[in-house]
Amino acid sequence: MNVYQFALQQLTKAAGVADVSPRLIERLRQPQRVIEINFPVLMDSGEEKIFTSYRVQYNNARGPYKGGIRFHPQVDLNEVKALAFWMTIKCAVADIPLGGGKGGVIVDPKKLSATELERLSRAWARAFKDFVGPDIDVPAPDVYTTPQIMSWMGEELVAAHNGDETYKATFTGKPLDDGGSEGRTEATGLGGFYVFEALAKQIKLAPGSTVAVQGFGNVGLYFARFAASAGYKVVAVSDSSGGVYNPIGLDIDKAESHKTKTGKLIGLPGSQSITNEELLLLPVDVLVPSALENQITADNADQIKAKIVVEMANGPTTPEADTILWDKKIILLPDVLANSGGVTVSYFEWLQNRKGEHWPKDRVLTELKQHIVLAFEEIYKLGQEKNIDLRTAAFVVALKRIEKATK
Ligand code: NAD
Repeated sequence: MNVYQFALQQLTKAAGVADVSPRLIERLRQPQRVIEINFPVLMDSGEEKIFTSYRVQYNNARGPYKGGIRFHPQVDLNEVKALAFWMTIKCAVADIPLGGGKGGVIVDPKKLSATELERLSRAWARAFKDFVGPDIDVPAPDVYTTPQIMSWMGEELVAAHNGDETYKATFTGKPLDDGGSEGRTEATGLGGFYVFEALAKQIKLAPGSTVAVQGFGNVGLYFARFAASAGYKVVAVSDSSGGVYNPIGLDIDKAESHKTKTGKLIGLPGSQSITNEELLLLPVDVLVPSALENQITADNADQIKAKIVVEMANGPTTPEADTILWDKKIILLPDVLANSGGVTVSYFEWLQNRKGEHWPKDRVLTELKQHIVLAFEEIYKLGQEKNIDLRTAAFVVALKRIEKATK
């Protein structure tokens, strides 16, 4: 079963609880539009290489499509569809006036030079020039795409529209000096931490509880940092080459500088090396998958020892694993809520660009906290009232909002 089929299973489960029309569910069973573009990029060798790119525009009932662009060798259409579907749900959970979309380019960016990466990013913007725009579809960074890449794409899109600067607002997650918002870099990790703290307060989680974070990119690094500075013991972190573990706690700043220096976490002084699979099964209180999909599955869910799973990655848990975790009374904070801080601040960036404003960081982070904690409280309350898992509760809240907008 592929990740898109998993996403549709989640929809079916929520449809059984949500009091919404079957017509809405049928509409949400497929994207409104799928775009595939194969475009050429000049490589440093002088050769031209063709790259395949997908953009899935899933649903725009609540506003322009919104979702990141992923550069990854394993991008496939079903994955992009799943991610675009989750964006539709996520923007509704966050209650921002945007729909759901997602994009991906099949490429290993680690094998490109800086100039090839820039040419690829600019070529993407030219190829998709008629399909994106501030009122049509608003992309952002995702796995292996960065603020710099958004800046190149924005510049190229403006040029492709005869210098019309309003097109700059098409991309969010831009660098600060190029129309980006204060707080966007840490927004996803921080938003997830706010949601986790709100849950910790509800269930009276002991201070100093242990945390393991899989993935040490934008999302995982910031979550780990905020958790450590709030007094939680982050005992394990990992990247694509593997993880590091110390049961008495890791120094996140040292882990970060080790990774910057050596390119990987493994070898961090004072830690023991573990695999990504081992990290998931550690005896910790809180597990935070922050890398890719399909990490907690029917094969390992039964061995998870954490009491709380905070899904900072998109789609890290399969539906079968969801059921196993629920039976084990493990509380799962679903991706569509836990990682919605990124898109919330992206929405603030889009607003600022369109109004010609620049909000101070305090305002951005205060509004982020208010937004995401409110979403958590509504979903948590519904979960308690109906005795349903928090993913299903989040979907119910979202489906009702999408139905209202559709009508
Ligand atoms: P990133 O590119 O900054 O980092 C990805 C991290 O995952 C890196 O540390 C990489 O080494 C690690 N990784 C890659 N393959 C791995 C593997 N097989 N096992 C373990 N680690 C692996 O990406 P990111 O922006 O941090 O995104 C991570 C996840 O969060 C993705 O699922 C993404 O869709 C989701 N997400 C990101 C944002 C955002 O604002 N960046 C918002 C919402 C959701």
